[in-house]
Amino acid sequence: MTLPGSVLTWLIQLIRCCLCLLGFCGAAHGTDDAPARPLDAHWDAGARDCKAAAPLPLQTFFYDRRTIILRQNPCVSAEANFIYLLLGESRAMLIDTGAVADASIMPLADTIMGHLPEKNGTRLPLLIVHTHKHLDHRAGDTQFAHLAGVEIIGADLESVRTFFGFPQWPEGVGHVDLGGRIIDVLPAPGHQENHVVFYDNETALLFSGDFLMPGRLLISDRQAFRESAVRIATYLSPRPVAHILGAHIELDAAGIPYNFGTHFHPNERPLELSREDLVALGGAFEHFNGFYARYPHFVLFNSKLELPVLGFEELMAR
Ligand SMILES: [Zn+2]
Ligand SMILES: [Zn+2]
Repeated sequence: MTLPGSVLTWLIQLIRCCLCLLGFCGAAHGTDDAPARPLDAHWDAGARDCKAAAPLPLQTFFYDRRTIILRQNPCVSAEANFIYLLLGESRAMLIDTGAVADASIMPLADTIMGHLPEKNGTRLPLLIVHTHKHLDHRAGDTQFAHLAGVEIIGADLESVRTFFGFPQWPEGVGHVDLGGRIIDVLPAPGHQENHVVFYDNETALLFSGDFLMPGRLLISDRQAFRESAVRIATYLSPRPVAHILGAHIELDAAGIPYNFGTHFHPNERPLELSREDLVALGGAFEHFNGFYARYPHFVLFNSKLELPVLGFEELMAR
């Protein structure tokens, strides 16, 4: 017997509904995201000989007029951090300040203050927050320390819990209102104990720091990491996700990690990841050997085994 196409479609939808009611379409499947606009950014690759190349220390990319992505040149710091500036109606928020304290090497504060619009003759106030407390995400704080209209939130756990309001850490969701732009803040311990990620309701971007990025995901607490991935995927399940933007790119277009500490990133893979990568991250821990595992868009890497793993990785890359 052959069913007419419309009846078949109706039957498939009915079966899908029944499976959902029975709990077979949970958070892991998530919302079907509309195709997101690619970043279409070309990041400076650094150089084999940075002295000869002398590139600009900071690269600026406008995702849109209120969402600005900055990247430290790999020549300035091998970490080559991404830093994000979000503009609202009443204030701006900077996520991370990068790996360089010295303004003469990387003029972060000058660059950021230059991007803040003025209202009635006064610059938009700036809030500085961090994905976590590793130094490559907050070394630039010192450049802002004495500037008027700037508030810096400490990167220690107590400051993070207090400012964003997490009495039941790592449960709960914090909110930052930038004026017509609400940013949700979600705990994401696992790479580091007080890591958070930021979800922008305006652009549907998730700023994920070192928790999820195209690179080595250093794991300090395996269980916390897995639980964070599942909790964040569940939270985002009914929400759109345009891109997941982390703090580093450490893989080339073929998914091979660059050598640790290199200042040259030829043929980098794109910065952006997707909801599928977040779901894959949660699932990856179920089979993780606790040592090292390479996936197409990230590498799980036990931070306690750093040296042996780096040697192993070089062998695998040959
Ligand atoms: Zn880190
Ligand atoms: Zn980092």
